[in-house]
Amino acid sequence: MNIAIAGVGLVGRVLALNLLQKGHTLTLFDEDTAYGDASAGFTAAGMLALFAELETAESSIFARGKHSIYLWPFLLEQVGIRDAFQLEGSIITAHPQDLSELDHFIETLQSKVPEASTIKTLNKEEIMALEPDLEQHNKAFYIPCEGQVDAQRFMKATSDFLFHHPSITWHQETKIDKVKDLVKNYDWVFDARGLGAGKDFENLRGVRGEVFWLEAPEVKITRPTRMLHPRYKIYIVPRPNNMYIIGATEIESEDKSPMSVRSSLELLSAVYSMHSGFAEARIIKCATNCRPTLKDNLPQIIHEEKLTRINGLYRHGYLLAPAVVEEALEVLS
Ligand SMILES: Cc1cc2nc3c(=O)[nH]c(=O)nc-3n(C[C@H](O)[C@H](O)[C@H](O)COP(=O)(O)OP(=O)(O)OC[C@H]3O[C@@H](n4cnc5c(N)ncnc54)[C@H](O)[C@@H]3O)c2cc1C
Repeated sequence: MNIAIAGVGLVGRVLALNLLQKGHTLTLFDEDTAYGDASAGFTAAGMLALFAELETAESSIFARGKHSIYLWPFLLEQVGIRDAFQLEGSIITAHPQDLSELDHFIETLQSKVPEASTIKTLNKEEIMALEPDLEQHNKAFYIPCEGQVDAQRFMKATSDFLFHHPSITWHQETKIDKVKDLVKNYDWVFDARGLGAGKDFENLRGVRGEVFWLEAPEVKITRPTRMLHPRYKIYIVPRPNNMYIIGATEIESEDKSPMSVRSSLELLSAVYSMHSGFAEARIIKCATNCRPTLKDNLPQIIHEEKLTRINGLYRHGYLLAPAVVEEALEVLS
């Protein structure tokens, strides 16, 4: 089939990889360039937080998340970066005065899915055995089957792969306002414009997120690590070459302007209180973007005539996209 995809962010790319596997010919449209960084998929930390996200999410994301974690290695293999996938569990900890909050957090997860009984309490010795750099913590939880996709490598590798693929025409810097207008020229059209879908999705909104990229040679944390705090939750996501993504704020706003002083103070003081080795870290960059979010904070797939729309992946794009796209593609089978 001759298929068009409007929006080549995270969902658009996962769609394109799946459709190529099935032998379709694709035309991609994005208002950004093929190597631009406008999509939320480019800003994301890429965490596959199957359990930890359940605190504030519906348990329905669990099955999709689990299936996506199964599918990611195949997608990454397709673009030659299988090693951009890590599934070695994650750590959650808190300051001593907030440990009751941490216990409550874990109880909430365990009340949502039975599989959360695999979450393991760690004492100081066990923390040191897993992540020696977190030695100042007396208690933490280890969450198995969580990990990360190196989101920026995925975006770069898919730009290379899709842009040069013989079955793909990629129209860069081409804004599509009316996706329905594409339907007459293609056998099927997918709307994957994220927040850019605007009024085509009822109650679509942006949720602002800000992250730091720190280079911290004095820190040796190997797994995604969260710290709970009564006012904010931060995570540290390790990347190669002593780089760490520190994130992320969550603000009900579609403002993509640079990071605020308040957010930077909160994120940096929290990360420094977690590991003093961040004191001498270098701030490589800060990034801001908005998560495309629907009323119930869950993804939505809408089928119309010769048109499928996918949106609302909120803070779970990497966790959910492969499974959501697989569901959406059932329409073509
Ligand atoms: C700070 C931050 C951290 C995150 N961390 C994680 C994480 O750790 N784990 C996780 O699972 N998820 C995370 N996410 C969420 C994830 O990034 C999103 O859920 C995901 O990117 C949504 O995918 P999408 O394709 O719908 O939108 P996007 O990735 O934003 O892609 C939309 C694309 O459509 C294009 N576009 C928009 N309008 C138009 C138009 N009119 N015409 C043509 N093209 C258009 C855009 O240029 C863009 O390329 C994070 C998000 C943020 C902001």
